[in-house]
Amino acid sequence: MARHLVLILGDQLDHHAAGLDGFDPKQDCIWMAEVKEESDHVPSSKQRIALFLSAMRHFAKELKSREWPLDYIPLDSRKNTQTLNGELKRAIDRHKPSRLIMTAPGDWRVLQKLRSTAESCGIPLEIREDRHFFSTVRDFAEHAKGRKQLRLEYWYRELREKTDTLMKDGKPIGGQWNFDQENRAAFGKDGPGAVPRPNRFKPDVVTSEVIDLVNTVFADHPGSVAASQEGFGWPVTRAEALLALKDFIAHRLSNFGQYQDAMWANEPWLYHSHIASALNLKLLSAKEVVQAAEQAYNNGLAPLAAVEGFIRQILGWREYVRGIYWMNMPDYLERNALNATARLPDFFWTGKTDMACLQDTIQQTLRTGYAHHIQRLMVTGLYTLLAGIHPKAVHEWYLSVYVDAVEWVELPNVLGMSQYADGGVMASKPYAASGKYIDRMSNYCKGCRFDPAKSTGEDACPFTTLYWDFLMRHENLLAKNPRMVMQIRNLNRLSPADRKAIRAQAAQLGISKGS
Ligand SMILES: Cc1cc2nc3c(=O)[nH]c(=O)nc-3n(C[C@H](O)[C@H](O)[C@H](O)COP(=O)(O)OP(=O)(O)OC[C@H]3O[C@@H](n4cnc5c(N)ncnc54)[C@H](O)[C@@H]3O)c2cc1C
Ligand code: SF4
Repeated sequence: MARHLVLILGDQLDHHAAGLDGFDPKQDCIWMAEVKEESDHVPSSKQRIALFLSAMRHFAKELKSREWPLDYIPLDSRKNTQTLNGELKRAIDRHKPSRLIMTAPGDWRVLQKLRSTAESCGIPLEIREDRHFFSTVRDFAEHAKGRKQLRLEYWYRELREKTDTLMKDGKPIGGQWNFDQENRAAFGKDGPGAVPRPNRFKPDVVTSEVIDLVNTVFADHPGSVAASQEGFGWPVTRAEALLALKDFIAHRLSNFGQYQDAMWANEPWLYHSHIASALNLKLLSAKEVVQAAEQAYNNGLAPLAAVEGFIRQILGWREYVRGIYWMNMPDYLERNALNATARLPDFFWTGKTDMACLQDTIQQTLRTGYAHHIQRLMVTGLYTLLAGIHPKAVHEWYLSVYVDAVEWVELPNVLGMSQYADGGVMASKPYAASGKYIDRMSNYCKGCRFDPAKSTGEDACPFTTLYWDFLMRHENLLAKNPRMVMQIRNLNRLSPADRKAIRAQAAQLGISKGS
């Protein structure tokens, strides 16, 4: 019998989480469970499953070394029901706790499951605020109250002030809130040069065992994983996550802002931090990451534009999408403002396409579980937006393939920011662009059989064809958006013959319209 059963989920691996406040090893017990359902509800990639299971097992080892009572259900244990509800019910039967306690789960689906199980067993479930974040879901709802339109910039400023981050005498350091104008450079024709390689961690015994398990149990899941530094290199412990953070701050932060949007073929890592998975699993605290970046600026290690650009992603965007998610779930999942109905092309699961930008981004994703923001937004996301792929199918793909994918952050980014399926809650306009944007920001087009400047003909770039086709399909709606004026004006310059030829070319691209 346990007094309290403390539930810890795979993305709550923080020894200082609120759920553990007041934990008494003499009376209480911790519960953790590996269940197939969490990797099957969308077909999680092998990289993602390996990361979650390995990080959970390492965390469990740390708990055991503190001699804290822990009921840990491995994926391959004989009686595992492979569902969260099933395992929680069995744990309640075993421990007969008077109360279940946990830190607030990140995902709406998981919260409903745990609540319904607790209710059906007649046991109170105490849910505590997640202190990992700078703001609460209620703070965001308060901020949103009475506003016709939400915009990141205002929320971000509010949090900068509240947390006194990059502020002096109540004003933003450097005299402005935002250095976006300095943060949009491409690499130029010589490419990124010698970018300092990020820390990749060699799988230890625990991770290697997990990788074997994943390759057996989830053999048909997307992507690949192997027990070598090239085959899997993500931080799976807090110690490794701290090394990854330190390495980023010392070697790549100073160039982060400037090259934040730039892409280059066969260069998956560039000047990004690669810490989203460690943050989302709570191996790192968001506060310590922001503090480390601010400290780097104070110590003269990185310029203000880079540090502000990086801090905005975490203090701004990450908190913003969490607020949007909780304010709009569960309806958000069903939004489809542009009535997109097409099927996700099969090449999203293989990378087998002759569009060089998509090939590189998807193959890298399946191999590493990672792509940086602009690859997600302006390559894969742009293609699905322009092609009119059903937003739910797009959401499920992103949730499956990225190591940092957890629904509360993935869904608003995919459905809102990249697919405009929420009709403008997240973004003030669709991120629609032609192949010329990709050409400007990368070297992909140099190695591609298509020409980004062409919308019709044998070598027309599918992005460019679909871009014009997208504007035509949604002309009435987009013409009402003041931020789309330029794009609609350019559309209006096309002759009826051009429009007809583009429509015919788009129809030939073989995008299945679905139902
Ligand atoms: C279509 C799409 C899907 C995305 N899916 C996810 C996802 O499943 N999980 C996820 O954590 N991020 C997601 N993002 C946001 C962002 O692309 C990733 O956080 C980032 O690419 C992770 O790589 P990094 O750690 O190297 O980030 P960096 O480029 O180094 O950025 C630093 C940190 O800022 C935070 N951040 C940056 N942009 C965002 C953003 N838009 N929203 C929230 N946090 C942000 C992340 O924690 C990230 O680690 C998505 C973006 C898009 C456009
Ligand atoms: S030409 Fe078009 S398809 Fe080819 S890499 Fe450039 S944007 Fe991608």
